[in-house]
Amino acid sequence: MARFDNRVAIVTGAGSGIGRATALRLAREGARVVLADVSDAGLLDTENRLPEGAECLRRVVDVSDEPQVKALVDEILAHFGQVDVLCNIAGIASTQGSHPPVTENERAEWEQVLSVNLIGSMLLIKHTAPHMQARKVGSIVNTASVAGLRSGAGGNAYSASKAGVVNLTMTAACDLGDDNVRVNAVCPGLVETGMTQAVFDYARAHEKAHKLGSRCELRRYGDPEEIAAAILFFASDDASYITGQALPVDGGNTASLNMPG
Ligand code: NAD
Repeated sequence: MARFDNRVAIVTGAGSGIGRATALRLAREGARVVLADVSDAGLLDTENRLPEGAECLRRVVDVSDEPQVKALVDEILAHFGQVDVLCNIAGIASTQGSHPPVTENERAEWEQVLSVNLIGSMLLIKHTAPHMQARKVGSIVNTASVAGLRSGAGGNAYSASKAGVVNLTMTAACDLGDDNVRVNAVCPGLVETGMTQAVFDYARAHEKAHKLGSRCELRRYGDPEEIAAAILFFASDDASYITGQALPVDGGNTASLNMPG
């Protein structure tokens, strides 16, 4: 038996990057996957890469819109009759590109970033978890970031949203543990995806690409498949006694203070 045979897994952010890698690996390991994203083109691209015979439901959904999230979960239950795994991966970067100090932050940017990254994750849990609780089985994996554990990456709104995701992971794990529903988070370091493409393009254009992973102990940036591997670990029965945890998947970036000298 494959790890996700007979399981239904929702993947938000499935139209690109880490979400796509996660959805494809879940399907390869036997899951019926729900591909959810705001980008229809991205979803279609992911669906076209699914292994032959994989069962999927592809839906355009804005995770920050509660009626859309509720309608998605209702449709999944009507279609598949169950939901076993939720991977909250959809996210956006800070929109104030230059990452200014807090004294220059804009309220509208904070509201937008928190709305997708933090409230979106909460909404998916809110509408999915009751069905897991009723069956006394389920695993939820949130996507935080090293930016949620330390300052200095991604901008203030993004960091705060990801710190919120880490805490949401703990509070939801406490709320749902009685019903055998586990909640964990991965905290990726720098990974080349749609979200970070501009950073990589700029670095390559200025022959600085080698510097992008230099602060990691493994001296390289990550690959979406390496984050997907950790997400699938938490989602699977291999992590059956783990809940409420946030795991850096960052090549050792957060292991060191990186002090000069
Ligand atoms: P990505 O931009 O390639 O993928 C993000 C996906 O989320 C996109 O397909 C986008 O359309 C979708 N999305 C955005 N807003 C949405 C919404 N409101 N509703 C539904 N879908 C929405 O980026 P990625 O790097 O694969 O990001 C995946 C997750 O990983 C994000 O939560 C991100 O914050 C996190 N992360 C990424 C990195 C990195 O270096 N790439 C590092 C740490 C954490």
